[in-house]
Amino acid sequence: MTKQSLAESLIVSGAGPLIADAMGRSFATLRLSVTDRCNFACVYCAGDSPFKADSRPFRSAEEIFSSAMPLIEIAGIKKIRITGGEPTLHPGLVDLVALFGKAGLNSIHLTTNGWNLRELVLPLRDAGLTSLNVSLDAAGEEGFRRMARRGGFAGVLHGIDVARALLPVKINCTLVRGQNENEILPVFKLARSLGVTVRYLELMAMGPLRKDARSLLVKEQTILDAIATEESFTPVPTEKSSTAHYFRLTDGYMFGVIANESMPFCSDCNRLRMDARGNIYGCISDARGININGLQKSELENALRTALSRKQPVRFVGSEKSMQELGG
Ligand code: SAM
Ligand code: SF4
Repeated sequence: MTKQSLAESLIVSGAGPLIADAMGRSFATLRLSVTDRCNFACVYCAGDSPFKADSRPFRSAEEIFSSAMPLIEIAGIKKIRITGGEPTLHPGLVDLVALFGKAGLNSIHLTTNGWNLRELVLPLRDAGLTSLNVSLDAAGEEGFRRMARRGGFAGVLHGIDVARALLPVKINCTLVRGQNENEILPVFKLARSLGVTVRYLELMAMGPLRKDARSLLVKEQTILDAIATEESFTPVPTEKSSTAHYFRLTDGYMFGVIANESMPFCSDCNRLRMDARGNIYGCISDARGININGLQKSELENALRTALSRKQPVRFVGSEKSMQELGG
């Protein structure tokens, strides 16, 4: 199949997704960034010279909702993950979740660094949030400080503890060789003691570590080998369009690996991204955002088709932009 025909998208009327490409991919999940600001400066995302976040006022909850809803309706999106930057810095986060809930969406998720979780988790749950992913790259203050480049381990842990009583919670642990591969087992033990699933993320070649990502990669096999020194586990069949592979211990506890590099999953990727200013992206390998502010329905359909056509066929090829800028 030529690149052009791969990229060619088509509209299928009637049953099935409205917008699909020649590989059968469509958009089913929206990763919605509400801000590109962040109060952490993680080594892999912000680095030594973080990109300059937008200093203009936040887009309001209503504004974000109004630009996301037509995309959701046209593309037939079923699931939203609110992200950033750090989404809990947005003062209208609870209102935004409530707006999506009232619009009938029943799969509304959040990815957060956990800093503001303690105070926010109850109102978020009451507003209709379905689940939470909390990023935690170390099991103690020293490692946390090395990765996030600020203190705060105890507060984040407290946030996870409060959250797990109210909502399904997963921990995301991104690994960087020479920085935190020694945290694989400690984070595993911590997550297990909390009864929370941990997913380890292979480093993606984005933003500050773009050029060094290959040498800094901690591969899925290294992660599994580390856990296998203390535990026995078996793989769980991977669901379609899932980014994670899961493994189950004999007592039923599950952990996962998101192996962007070892086991690329572009061929059935169903994600659409919108950044904090209303630019959409079909693929994080392609930094060309399409601004959808003010577009009419037919123009939005075209924008979605263009975004879909920019998905990679096989694997992520790197991006100058960081996850913070693009929406993680
Ligand atoms: N600030 C929130 C947080 O940290 O969870 C949400 C945004 S953050 C960009 C979302 C996720 O992207 C985090 O779990 C983070 O570890 C991950 N991430 C950021 N840059 C990455 C990279 N280069 N490779 C792999 N994962 C990355
Ligand atoms: Fe901020 Fe999340 Fe990026 Fe860390 S990973 S710098 S918390 S946006």
